[in-house]
Amino acid sequence: MGTSAPSRQNLIQMLAAEGTDARRELYQQAYRIKLEQVGKLVYFRGIIEFSNICTKNCYYCGIRRENTTTKRFSMSADEILECAKLAHDYNYGSIVLQAGERNDPEFVDFVETIVRDIKTMSDGGLGITLSLGEQSSETYQRWFESGAHRYLIRIETSNRGLYSSLHPEDHDFDRRLSCIRELRDIGYQVGTGVMVGLPGQTIEDLADDILFFKKIDADMIGMGPYIIHHDTPLAVNASDFDPARQLRLGLNMIAATRIALEDVNIAATTALQALDPKGRELGLQAGANIIMPNITHTRYRSSYQLYDNKPCLDENAGLCRACLSHRITGIGEEIGYNQWGDSPHFFKRNQLDK
Ligand code: SAH
Ligand code: SF4
Repeated sequence: MGTSAPSRQNLIQMLAAEGTDARRELYQQAYRIKLEQVGKLVYFRGIIEFSNICTKNCYYCGIRRENTTTKRFSMSADEILECAKLAHDYNYGSIVLQAGERNDPEFVDFVETIVRDIKTMSDGGLGITLSLGEQSSETYQRWFESGAHRYLIRIETSNRGLYSSLHPEDHDFDRRLSCIRELRDIGYQVGTGVMVGLPGQTIEDLADDILFFKKIDADMIGMGPYIIHHDTPLAVNASDFDPARQLRLGLNMIAATRIALEDVNIAATTALQALDPKGRELGLQAGANIIMPNITHTRYRSSYQLYDNKPCLDENAGLCRACLSHRITGIGEEIGYNQWGDSPHFFKRNQLDK
């Protein structure tokens, strides 16, 4: 078993770690807990970013509705299936379908059908995670019944005041919260997370984010450093942006979350790699156990830029696979090919619920 749950004050101290020794110690502690609680295997979720059409207008995001410089695209069902087939052929075990948020009936039907088709194509083999924002509980239910079993929806920040400074007035913190609850009730494994190093966000906020993950009993955590997108309202703060600080905070947050939550799945996200070529390996060494290789068709990648300097835009899925497996074995970890790699926490909480 891990140590007893860290207090808010302990979390603040961990998040503030700056010197080389303090950080090494923190990451080593988190890594030990990862080995004990979820093991040494890294699981892959091939991510398909299938559309950048979004009805929302988050102030930080490059594909927000009002960004007229973004060329909009939606992949066809056949194109998505082709990417999913690739993931299956690569033995990835799972995929993530991510896109901008749409709630219209055509979109809801489209997702329902594509999830079902991917399940059929892979003979039930591929695990499917959705990351498609806020939807009605009927929609979540339909997508669950068609075969998706995990859902990622970040709270972005658990500080309500900060949340409202980052979103227009009609983006509702409470609605986002109730989505998390509804997804859980339906039976999804639920992932949430925050952006780290947001303008106006304090170390105390980040400690509270971790306590929030614990309180809502999250199964999976996906966090990444906030990175400026030049065509967004939040880019006015560009001169304060310190990539080294963002990377450090992103890694400290992974480590502190592993220490506090122990048996959840935690992703080493692409945003880490946008700040450092080795960002994702550093994430694994700080306690993460999930990697999301990009399997989107290369021709669409440059149009799905939530933030600047997104890596691997000119690569294809095969190159990403070769590069990643090399990087992961290079740090002494193993890849859990052909496995769903579900969150151990999900099974434990379900046993307790019975
Ligand atoms: N539309 C869906 C899924 C796509 S956005 C949704 O919002 O849930 C996925 C995630 O990208 C968001 O949750 C947000 O945390 C992250 N993101 C958006 N803009 C970003 C930025 N500038 N820097 C870092 N992460 C960002
Ligand atoms: Fe749309 Fe998601 Fe970007 Fe917000 S973060 S603008 S919902 S894609």
